[in-house]
Amino acid sequence: MTQQISQSQDFTDKEILVINCGSSSVKFSLINPATGESELSGLAQCLLSSDANITIKYQGEKKTYNLAAPFDHQCALAILVSQLQQLGLVKSICAVGHRVVHGGEQYSEPTLITNEVEQAISQLAKLAPLHNPANLIGIKACQQAFSDLPQIAIFDTAFHQTMPEKAYIYGLPYSLYQEHGVRRYGFHGTSHYFVAKQAAKQLAKPLEQCNLISAHLGNGCSVTVIKDGKSVDTSLGMTPVEGVMMGTRSGDLDAGIIFHLVEQLGYSITDVDNLVNKKSGLLGVSGISNDCRALETAMLEDNNSQAKLALTVFCYRIAKSIASYSASLTSLDGLIFTGGIGENSSWVRQQIIQQLSLLNFALDPDKNLATRFGASGNISADNARDCWVIATNEEWVIAEQSAQLLTTLDK
Ligand code: ADP
Repeated sequence: MTQQISQSQDFTDKEILVINCGSSSVKFSLINPATGESELSGLAQCLLSSDANITIKYQGEKKTYNLAAPFDHQCALAILVSQLQQLGLVKSICAVGHRVVHGGEQYSEPTLITNEVEQAISQLAKLAPLHNPANLIGIKACQQAFSDLPQIAIFDTAFHQTMPEKAYIYGLPYSLYQEHGVRRYGFHGTSHYFVAKQAAKQLAKPLEQCNLISAHLGNGCSVTVIKDGKSVDTSLGMTPVEGVMMGTRSGDLDAGIIFHLVEQLGYSITDVDNLVNKKSGLLGVSGISNDCRALETAMLEDNNSQAKLALTVFCYRIAKSIASYSASLTSLDGLIFTGGIGENSSWVRQQIIQQLSLLNFALDPDKNLATRFGASGNISADNARDCWVIATNEEWVIAEQSAQLLTTLDK
């Protein structure tokens, strides 16, 4: 699926450098915002450790360099800049678009990064302590490396700012929301937005007329319900722990379990944090791996019962989450699977869909099996409700929205 997202502006010769900075990694991609094509992309990973390395892919050819420690985000970006210079690509870059995880309630639109915006992103780190500080490192490093280019923030939470109060207020004292911003924010917004837009094209109607449920299933997982093109509820919450079960995150828990762990089993709060974020989910239940592929192999080839249990719980909880969103809609055009698992695991898709027959979902087994490894398409059986696999492309959304912001700044 490579339709143009934006056809109105002429960015034919222009590129946006898209940066997604994690605590020990930098993902980058030079993208033409009109076509979504990427001439150069890559990943620096294991930063600040002795395994640090950077892989750069240019015109289909991949090169990996191992790097001497201590190798940080600035060093990774310095290598990227020197590669861009050597290849004569710097002059085509018109802005740097940054993925920023948490924009709180302030940011529902792409935003030019000023000192004030940087401070806000820094303050919002209290809601996303693992992500926003890393995003800021990327922003600061790019400000140094590309001092004359506009830096633009695209927030993961932005798409969900259209949720009504009934979806984002927790059953806690209201003052916690008013005074401390304790509410559902949701994440994976750029991915849900991108796949919803692609589904609207499949339906041949404007996104604003589409009612969809989108399941982004990767290491992190979330299910979002989209009414008239807008997010009206989503499974991830104030932090990315809530909702369905994930690779290493537990998803929804009885909060009483936390008191039990602390009061009866001697866990510290740091232990609990570590447990629900890093040791639970597919990894915790299986005791084998957080990786869906490894679990499918263990289940199907070695008949491993823990792998089967982990995948079964994973699929049931996603099916339940999808079904729960019938409370948010009066009609439903279809369901979208995306993310590494959603795009590739025909077994997971089949398990989820067979628990949703009440909503008239059913898969065509051949189409389900054939639609993997980057392929997109409709996998529903004849006469069943539409179900699509759509390869997500968050980088393209970041590039497109950065370009759109640039045109408004020019006016
Ligand atoms: P992230 O949330 O880190 O971006 P991804 O969207 O890349 O994660 O998804 C990673 C998940 O996708 C892993 O659980 C991985 O096992 C799963 N995955 C990737 N390819 C396949 C495949 N062919 N079959 C099943 N699962 C797959």
